Amino acid sequence: MDLNEIYRVYSTYLKNKYGQKVYKLPVNIPCSCPNRDGRKGTQGCIFCGGSGSGFELLSENLSVSEQLLKNKELIQRKYKANKFIAYFQSFSNTYLNFDLFKRFMTEAAQFDNIIELSISTRPDCIEYKHIDFLNNLKEKTNTNITIELGLQSSNNKTLQILNRQHTVEDYINSAQLIKNNGLDLCTHIISDLPWDSKEDIVNLANLLNETQTDFLKVHSLYVERGTVLEKLYNNGLELLSSNDFIERTILLLELLNPNIVIERLIGRIPEKNCVYANWQQSWWKIRDLMIETMVKNSNFQGRRYTR
Ligand code: SF4
Repeated sequence: MDLNEIYRVYSTYLKNKYGQKVYKLPVNIPCSCPNRDGRKGTQGCIFCGGSGSGFELLSENLSVSEQLLKNKELIQRKYKANKFIAYFQSFSNTYLNFDLFKRFMTEAAQFDNIIELSISTRPDCIEYKHIDFLNNLKEKTNTNITIELGLQSSNNKTLQILNRQHTVEDYINSAQLIKNNGLDLCTHIISDLPWDSKEDIVNLANLLNETQTDFLKVHSLYVERGTVLEKLYNNGLELLSSNDFIERTILLLELLNPNIVIERLIGRIPEKNCVYANWQQSWWKIRDLMIETMVKNSNFQGRRYTR
């Protein structure tokens, strides 16, 4: 079965664009989050375990070039790869001191074999100065740049329960800033939030279409050790079933513009931090079940998309 007939697969998109397989190299820089350092809050999002959503990272004490070199050598040995994306994954990277931010991004863009930068941040942490600088860097170094925004839900009430400390409107404003100024946009969402209805998923698909996100990462809600969500879970919070997750994700995919590239259909978490994730099954089993369901029911990305 060809997955590309069901949804727009990220690895295929990269291969077509660059003529070969492309791999991400995670980079850890010393940044924080306004939802943890007190500017917006100190508790963080209820699902955040304090690693800033970044796993498999090297120490931030290593320079950007040292991290890229170590990870590149590892992946080159394993896959004989030649083209890479520097992935600034954890915390809110644009929240960093602006001079340091510029220095780190420049170092990564100038590093050998880096063809893209992917920079994660919060929707309320990006300003025109970041976009302007990144646009110049893109032109000077011929490096494509994607900004990844964590949205999670299209419903402000759910964002409040999650203690995100930003709104859907913040996401819309930042998405417009990114898209109107020549950079690519990737959006992270969680499709099985127990406080979201199916109507919220429909609204979410419409929102992603309207903001013209280029890429989408779908996550399932997982419970990490030491989080507020862990307390809620231990106190009886009912999570949605795997069938609900699959049904909602398929609903979302069917309503999406078929041009949106799907980077991920389900999240994963290292075992040592995990209280509950993916219905205590391997992530790929849930993903495979979703694909099987889509094939059986003739579902595909964009089937119900209307311009
Ligand atoms: S915005 Fe990101 S880093 Fe900050 S608390 Fe939430 S998940 Fe954690």
